[in-house]
Amino acid sequence: MRIAAIFAHPDDIELMAAGTLTLLKRGGHEIFMATMTPGDKGSPDKNQVEISAIRMEEAKRSANRLGADYECLGFSDLEIYDDERTRRGVVEYLRRARPDIILTASPVDYMPDHEITAAVVRTAAFAAGIRNYHSGAASPLTGIPALYYADAMEGTDHFGEAIQPEFCIDVSDAISEKAEMLACHASQREWLRAHHGMDEYIEAMMRFSAARGALIGADYAEGFRQHRGHAYPHEPRLQELLPEYTHPIQNMKSNG
Ligand SMILES: [Zn+2]
Repeated sequence: MRIAAIFAHPDDIELMAAGTLTLLKRGGHEIFMATMTPGDKGSPDKNQVEISAIRMEEAKRSANRLGADYECLGFSDLEIYDDERTRRGVVEYLRRARPDIILTASPVDYMPDHEITAAVVRTAAFAAGIRNYHSGAASPLTGIPALYYADAMEGTDHFGEAIQPEFCIDVSDAISEKAEMLACHASQREWLRAHHGMDEYIEAMMRFSAARGALIGADYAEGFRQHRGHAYPHEPRLQELLPEYTHPIQNMKSNG
């Protein structure tokens, strides 16, 4: 199958979904990684052009490690809007990547870029199969891809309340690859290291992955929720690709 991970910023995919993507890649599936922006505001000392070039290289290196395609969709940090230009850009990307499964950011998260990305990806997944919705050269999809939301940063909503995943993927077997992919984002790692005086970038990812793992009795995990609105695929397409790694979270209310 073809799996597209479309998140807001370079390193979002690595933080929330790289373990799952590693397992999928091992299973022989094709992975397409895209970020809405090149992370152009993510530097204490470099201008937008300089840091964009650095971060797109870092994202490409990470995707290369996985053996995945990487594309930056050309929007800008803190300037992602749910508007016509953005929807068309994401639809055109979907029509090129032609995924069966899409992973994206949490619809409720700590910052608007993540939330707006989730909203635009949701709309684009719906629109990509509609012939009269014109986006560019690529031809319309034949159906709506199955859509999944990853965890929010720290797994909490705007009020600090936990957002429970619907299921977790046990990524204990893929945690070293996930850490290596995240480490490709050296500009962010060094920035945090200088600020915190420790390797907080990797440590924080490991802590959160371990907390998700604890929900299912595994060392490390990643959480997801499936979009089950009208017309979107309801069958557990992602879960069925990784049956031995998928653990439903029972008796927990998802509030995000
Ligand atoms: Zn982000």
